Amino acid sequence: MFDHRIYNFSAGPSMLPQSVLEKCAADMLNYNGSGMSVMEMSHRSKVYDEIIKQAEVLFREVMQIPDNYKVLFLQGGASTQFAMVPMNLLTKSGKADYVVTGQFSKKAYQEAKKFSDKIHLAGTTEDCNFARVPEQNELDLDPEADYVHICLNNTIFGTKWHYIPDTGNVPLVADLSSCILSEPIDVTKFGLIYAGAQKNIAPAGLTVVIVREDLVGKTLPGTPTMLDYAVQIKNESMYNTPPTYPIYVCKLVLEWIKDLGGLEAMKALNAKKCAILYDLLDESKLFNAVAAPADRSMMNVTFRTGNEELDAKFVKESTAAGFSNLKGHRSVGGMRASIYNAMPMEGVEKLAAFMKKFEEENA
Ligand SMILES: *Cc1c(COP(=O)(O)O)cnc(C)c1O
Repeated sequence: MFDHRIYNFSAGPSMLPQSVLEKCAADMLNYNGSGMSVMEMSHRSKVYDEIIKQAEVLFREVMQIPDNYKVLFLQGGASTQFAMVPMNLLTKSGKADYVVTGQFSKKAYQEAKKFSDKIHLAGTTEDCNFARVPEQNELDLDPEADYVHICLNNTIFGTKWHYIPDTGNVPLVADLSSCILSEPIDVTKFGLIYAGAQKNIAPAGLTVVIVREDLVGKTLPGTPTMLDYAVQIKNESMYNTPPTYPIYVCKLVLEWIKDLGGLEAMKALNAKKCAILYDLLDESKLFNAVAAPADRSMMNVTFRTGNEELDAKFVKESTAAGFSNLKGHRSVGGMRASIYNAMPMEGVEKLAAFMKKFEEENA
């Protein structure tokens, strides 16, 4: 039944752990003796209530989320958070600092500007096509800002913040869509964390928000009910029908992470996986890593040959060999191997062997 699965290096939606998919298949027609699929259940039923409650308990446990933070299971993707964040947090000075380190943080910055003319570009690395992230001393932060927004892992460019910027008393808001659950993170350093689920959590359709309680309660005039964090908190993510099935898969993924040994173990695995590729790239005479060494992502490895025809040949031949979605984003070119939590070690090892063979044949 699970034969012929290929190594899918897509930036998202991406691979899910095989054991999770097998559990989904086994539970498909009759979940836990309920006589129905999780997809068919009332979100207000007792059997479903246990699923969503357990998903939250596991999220708190795996990420060590303190009690003064709320965990929300929402819809609309990370892109809806680009608007929901300013609608809820831009309520004191109306000022916010945005650091632009790639396409998604740029979109977040542009969206915020719809709500205030005091949105400030506090740092950017666009001059080097986002091949690195700024140092702390390059950030121009305003102590009166309502929040500072960053994107922790830049999915398209393959960079990652290797430190959490010091924003003083100003809450730090971070898009963790492509690195959440990949390693331990100190939640207390953030005011709000959000992530679309389709990279490391679950299928598309779920957006997880972790928000410090004291930051919510006020909204900009005209904020839709659905986009008010306080409403979602009060209704325990059930103001309307939540994305029931992705929340169930999220619970299974968190169990899988816990069984592996939690986020420390996940980090060790991810560090090993990406080192296989970065070591190869650093030694290669054909391929080059795109991201600055100090800011390399563990999740998205960007590389190129420097020759567009050769890049295209690599993508074509790798696809034929059973590695899918290795073509880089059009704004970077070249290749990108997205190796999220669920990508097995074996997939990375086989890709590395394929790259070495390609190099021998094309150098
Ligand atoms: C994929 C991604 C997004 C977009 O997520 P949607 O859920 O499709 O809106 C935003 N930010 C980052 C960092 C991403 O990787």
